[in-house]
Amino acid sequence: MSEARVVLLPGDGVGPEIAAEARLVLGVLAPDVELDERLIGAAAIRASGDPLPEETLAACRTADAVLKGPVGDPEFDAADVRPEQGLLRLRAALDAYANLRPAVQGDVDVLIVRELVGGLYFGARGVRDDGTVFDTCEYHPLQVERLVRRGFELARARRSSVTSVDKANVLETSRLWRRVVEEVAADYPDVRVEHMLVDNAAMQLAVAPGRFDVIVTENMFGDILSDLAAAVTGGLGLAPSASLSDGGPGIFEPVHGSAPDIAGRGIANPTAMLRSTALLLEHALGRADEARALERALAHALGSAPTPDLGGTGTTAGFGEAVRAQLALTASGA
Ligand code: NAD
Repeated sequence: MSEARVVLLPGDGVGPEIAAEARLVLGVLAPDVELDERLIGAAAIRASGDPLPEETLAACRTADAVLKGPVGDPEFDAADVRPEQGLLRLRAALDAYANLRPAVQGDVDVLIVRELVGGLYFGARGVRDDGTVFDTCEYHPLQVERLVRRGFELARARRSSVTSVDKANVLETSRLWRRVVEEVAADYPDVRVEHMLVDNAAMQLAVAPGRFDVIVTENMFGDILSDLAAAVTGGLGLAPSASLSDGGPGIFEPVHGSAPDIAGRGIANPTAMLRSTALLLEHALGRADEARALERALAHALGSAPTPDLGGTGTTAGFGEAVRAQLALTASGA
């Protein structure tokens, strides 16, 4: 197995606490993988004035994958230079356009495939002379097509059903989205496809999440719907994500933010970060067996050492220990 290099970006708030657990787990499951730790977000602003320093970006570009904690700090909420800008720049620089957000619990198994480097978060913005503030939503057909194609490919390996979410009754970009989905669908006659307006999709995710297989959608709709999907499948502390490009390094990170309300107390749930680590092992390093072993160990620790967000009294470190103990048991064949 050739040696791989993963850039670890602990980030802000609870980020360093959960990143420490990811580092320990990778030390057990993939000790040959080099971990290259770098700064991003508020930590990077404090150190260098830039939320994505050039050396961090350069290290990410040449890595096999990026494992990232959340960024964000209330101290910078009103500042011109903000931690979240570093994250948006990183996603764009790596062209990590396909954001996979699985939400699994009981009979619910939905995979949200969100477009990550276009739309409202990247469009022209500004303030007009009269004080009007604007953000614009733009999509090129090719941006839509590559994302939608990923969704269909992923659906084929699952239950072969795609729900495309848009707001085609109002938005021009959504009408484009729908047209492209129809065109791509013609290449996948074995995959069922339906279109759903985003307001209905939110309601259906809340009341009947089990009806979905793969959801493909644009950047902002996916941002909001995936938090909802996370909430109905156990909470933000459990939800991982993988942001993939075509051939370049992917970014693996929890869906949740830096949780400043509990940062520094050692009680953050590291599951989302560790599930993101499992996605990295599988998608970036091709180590599916290790990924499965980690998921099984996590399921065990969720039962034996739950953190306070899940109604338990466990600590971040205690949870991590329970995961590693379970991995050791499995490795010894016990
Ligand atoms: P948040 O996800 O940080 O927190 C929402 C709630 O969930 C809080 O009560 C928090 O304590 C809880 N929570 C989140 N993660 C948890 C975990 N692992 N264990 C236990 N509880 C957890 O959302 P927010 O408060 O809206 O945002 C805080 C900061 O994070 C902001 O600066 C925001 O911009 C940033 N943010 C960053 C990312 C990212 O880096 N990808 C994503 C979302 C928000």
